[in-house]
Amino acid sequence: MTRPAFDTVLIANRGEIALRVQRACRGLGLRTVAVYAEPDRDAPHVRLADAALCIGPAAARDSYLNQAAILFAAEISGAQAIHPGYGFLAENADFVERVEAAGLTFIGPTAAAIRLMGDKIAAKRAMRASGVPCVPGPDAGLPDAAPALHVLAEAIGYPVIVKAAGGGGGRGMRLVRAAAELEDAVAVTREEARRAFGNGEIYLEKFLEHPRHVEIQVLADHHGTALWLGSRDCSLQRRHQKVIEEAPAPGIAADRLAEIGASCVAACRRIGYRGLGTFEFLYTDGAFFFIEMNTRVQVEHTVTEMVTGLDLVQLQLRVANGEALTLRQEEIACHGHAVECRVNAEHPETFAPSPGRITAWHAPGGPGVRLDSHMGAGATIPAHYDSLIAKLIVHDTTRPAALARMRAALDEMQVGGIATNLALHRRLLREPGVIAGGFDIHHLERWLAAS
Ligand code: ADP
Repeated sequence: MTRPAFDTVLIANRGEIALRVQRACRGLGLRTVAVYAEPDRDAPHVRLADAALCIGPAAARDSYLNQAAILFAAEISGAQAIHPGYGFLAENADFVERVEAAGLTFIGPTAAAIRLMGDKIAAKRAMRASGVPCVPGPDAGLPDAAPALHVLAEAIGYPVIVKAAGGGGGRGMRLVRAAAELEDAVAVTREEARRAFGNGEIYLEKFLEHPRHVEIQVLADHHGTALWLGSRDCSLQRRHQKVIEEAPAPGIAADRLAEIGASCVAACRRIGYRGLGTFEFLYTDGAFFFIEMNTRVQVEHTVTEMVTGLDLVQLQLRVANGEALTLRQEEIACHGHAVECRVNAEHPETFAPSPGRITAWHAPGGPGVRLDSHMGAGATIPAHYDSLIAKLIVHDTTRPAALARMRAALDEMQVGGIATNLALHRRLLREPGVIAGGFDIHHLERWLAAS
């Protein structure tokens, strides 16, 4: 057997994902190094790591985004690999290059793959070339000349959406319903994109009125094997933030999913992708339209784990360590149904963040119930980071059974001392549209406005 590339992993993240990665490392016999900002001193991912180093004060730019401090921590702790989790530095191609220049393994795709997917126009072009269906519209930047702009928009047909090539996090997009609004929308979006992303390149595509958000999980190794690991539906969103996710995407025929899955695998091969990744699609009237690829582990990877029985983070670590996947596409099956609720420390009606000290905590349990969380009674939620305090995940044989199991788990879960969105989840799991499944990405906001 060849010597493994790494036996010690620095986890450049915090919260539930730091703990999740740590568990996967431990399962594989890998040592873990935690890095933390001052307010996270007592966090479980710090306490439970084999080694822990403080990398700075609370502000993320001085700690979890501080590349030099993280690289220095790797050097002095003897870590040979860095797992970025999600968020922070997970999709920063410059960081990947620095990690590799230091002789370390970045647990994720290449800098080139991250750069390609970070440019939405280039990504769309690469996807089209691989046979992945994309939203109608050219895979090229917009011209400046107004007449040419109008010709393009007319060819696509209104409504259209103006999007920034470097956009992310639901920013840098503008809906245009009629020709009279086009020129202003293009000018404003271009200026915004220049300021926010340092890249004024923008493009145009068809605006889909009532799509669902359906995504395909992929995994590829360094030896040419690429697999797709099923679908997820993440249509329940507020301000482009996912609130509840499920696997598989309900009501889509298995052969349609297999077809789109195969096109994602073909794209992975074509761009030499390796590691975990997610192809995000808008799905409407029985058709898939690619919008972007996420080149990292996602918050909602858990629902895929529940229905496939695979540990995605362990697989990600093994692939990064140079192991060849022995799993074959025909061995990947989807058993039953899984649902995840993102439990946030936030006011249930205003959605304002609610940091503070947790005074009471009861975690639900029983068969098919999983809670990924770094919280407990006595823990403090710092105001500096996102408000996710737990992911409650359930699995059962059918979608109705999984929803029933989620209702019971939500009713059992208790968090005291801070405001959470648990009450919102309890109501949503009893809402007829949610129970029926197949709702579009505007469902939650429509329901909130009406209730
Ligand atoms: P980001 O990287 O900012 O998340 P995406 O391209 O993934 O940007 O789009 C974010 C969201 O914007 C989508 O989930 C969808 O709600 C909406 N959106 C993007 N493109 C379209 C489109 N062509 N038609 C309708 N909605 C869209």
